Amino acid sequence: MSSITLINPADESVITELSFSTVADVDAAVERALGAQRVWAELAPSDRAKALRTFAEAVDNHTEELAQLEVRNSGHPIGNARWEAGHVRDVLHYYAAVPERLIGKQIPVAGGLDVTLLEPFGVVGVIVPWNFPMTIATWGFAPALAAGNAVVLKPAEWTPLTALRLAELGLQAGLPEGLFQVLPGEGSVVGSRLVEHPAVRKIVFTGSTVTGEKVMAGAARQIKPVTLELGGKSANIVFADADLEAAAAAAPGGVFDNTGQDCCARSRLLVQNSVLDRFLELLEPAVKSFRVGDPHDEATEMGPLVSKPHLERVRAMLADPGRVAFRGQEPQGPGYWFAPTVLLPSSPADRLSREEIFGPVVSVIGFDDEADAIRLANDSDYGLAGSIWTRDLGRGLRLAKSVQAGNLSVNSNSAVRYATPFGGFKHSGIGRELGPDAALAFTETKNVFFAST
Ligand code: NAD
Repeated sequence: MSSITLINPADESVITELSFSTVADVDAAVERALGAQRVWAELAPSDRAKALRTFAEAVDNHTEELAQLEVRNSGHPIGNARWEAGHVRDVLHYYAAVPERLIGKQIPVAGGLDVTLLEPFGVVGVIVPWNFPMTIATWGFAPALAAGNAVVLKPAEWTPLTALRLAELGLQAGLPEGLFQVLPGEGSVVGSRLVEHPAVRKIVFTGSTVTGEKVMAGAARQIKPVTLELGGKSANIVFADADLEAAAAAAPGGVFDNTGQDCCARSRLLVQNSVLDRFLELLEPAVKSFRVGDPHDEATEMGPLVSKPHLERVRAMLADPGRVAFRGQEPQGPGYWFAPTVLLPSSPADRLSREEIFGPVVSVIGFDDEADAIRLANDSDYGLAGSIWTRDLGRGLRLAKSVQAGNLSVNSNSAVRYATPFGGFKHSGIGRELGPDAALAFTETKNVFFAST
């Protein structure tokens, strides 16, 4: 494909036609990035920090524009999109501190002085999915730039608009030309070339586990480090001693936010059997009142799915209506709508309880006791996130230590804060983004020994 027609998923109107980059475009971008990185690396750390702060301020001045662009391109509700644009600004601010605080070590040794230098890789390739286009892009490019690298970023085919705008804002804010480039295009063309290009020395990939395997195999041929943020099938575990009203009120947002197109979606709802009926009585009205509709409406909690092929995929996975316990609202007319859907009874072994649907669908599964809950939670190839609802703090801690996942919350469905590390166990990925250490993953440690004689 040489171009793509971008469609607004809420009303199926055409947004624009966009040309795709080629392998030659990637090679030219990497050349420009190499030159820009040398300029960037020669700047004083305080000047690099200042440039990143100016970039954050530029984002701050354009949050409404970025949010509106995301609403049109991705169908995110405007309230969520505003939060995402603010999050981009906050992540940039947070990593703007890094250039002046990347501190190596002085190690005691005999016969001289030993120091470690934290050097940038040079050019970093960042490949992102379509579900949170601007936030996930920023988790990659902000710490990479802060550590002294140049970045060539490939957005997902359907959702390139906010990343392209961010690159313009970065340039206007004074980043050296070519330091942060965004190349829209196909994964098999632009993504693959970034992985294979010998001058791209690190890859950050966020996407499906299937594609992550290909990226890791390609990077292995170049002995190139990867950070992989992959799929999930996270458990939301509700014990009988929990505040059931609070857990039921939070459960729809925990899985239907972003129309379930969220790697952290709590798409397996494990409920202790002794309170299962009561919990479902509380859950049903919460699901049915979850506001689905026009993403421009500030009251909307859930928009459409991102694209027609994705809608068809989710519909095909849910072809058997026998499993559905109840559903929420589904607007009629144009747009890629799919109602919030609760499946019951669900066997932990069935396909819909094991595979990532990436739509607004949750499987409810009963469990007997703590050991049973831990066994079910860990009976998954994935290990990204999860929640534990209980009034017993000892139990909360035991579960938090036993569930194999990178991001757990007790009595909350919150998963992402820019100041805390984020990433997955098992098939959900390798490495961590965000938090105080993320920039270190964009550096090579060099050890230098100065002889005293
Ligand atoms: P995807 O794997 O299909 O695509 C992700 C990106 O990789 C896109 O930009 C795509 O063009 C590119 N790509 C495709 N083939 C490639 C190749 N051979 N080489 C290099 N790049 C290639 O994923 P998607 O459908 O866009 O996103 C949904 C998936 O992303 C879900 O599985 C979701 O769980 C996951 N995800 C994970 C996280 C996380 O942080 N763990 C966050 C968001 C999404």
